[in-house]
Amino acid sequence: MSSFLLPCVCGRQTVVTPSQAGQAVRCECGAPLEVPTLRGLRELAPATVAGGSGRVRVWGNRHRVALALVLFAVVCLAGAGYLVPRVPPPVEVYTQQQILDHFESGTPAQVMGAYLELRPELDAATWRTDQQRARKFVLSEIAVLLAASCLGLVGAIMALRSGRHRAR
Ligand SMILES: [Zn+2]
Repeated sequence: MSSFLLPCVCGRQTVVTPSQAGQAVRCECGAPLEVPTLRGLRELAPATVAGGSGRVRVWGNRHRVALALVLFAVVCLAGAGYLVPRVPPPVEVYTQQQILDHFESGTPAQVMGAYLELRPELDAATWRTDQQRARKFVLSEIAVLLAASCLGLVGAIMALRSGRHRAR
């Protein structure tokens, strides 16, 4: 059976049960206390010591779940924050048209220069693809972490809400 804490002017709290509703009890300090009716009892703070009512325990679990979810969200956010400065920079990719324009609009010397400039770029095509893939991968990891963090926070809020609802 659930029990409640009946406060006294001295600051102590006396544990009362619904079966004592409407009766008079005595505080440890000696002052007489009137136990409220059943309706009034529900306004009092529930006592967790006397075996603990189911409701109180559920509320505690909800709190723990919410705390775990908040911690999870914080860890995900920290992970995302850790990854952000580590995103590989975007790779400049020339389109075929850009390359053609470059070659067509120049003197032979400029074309030769452009060719020499571009050749290592073309050689590095594999590296470029790898870098692009790595960038995409890290960006998607950040997105997943941010999404997980949001889900964790939403879950924590929902856990607290349902806990409050049940405790009523
Ligand atoms: Zn008292």
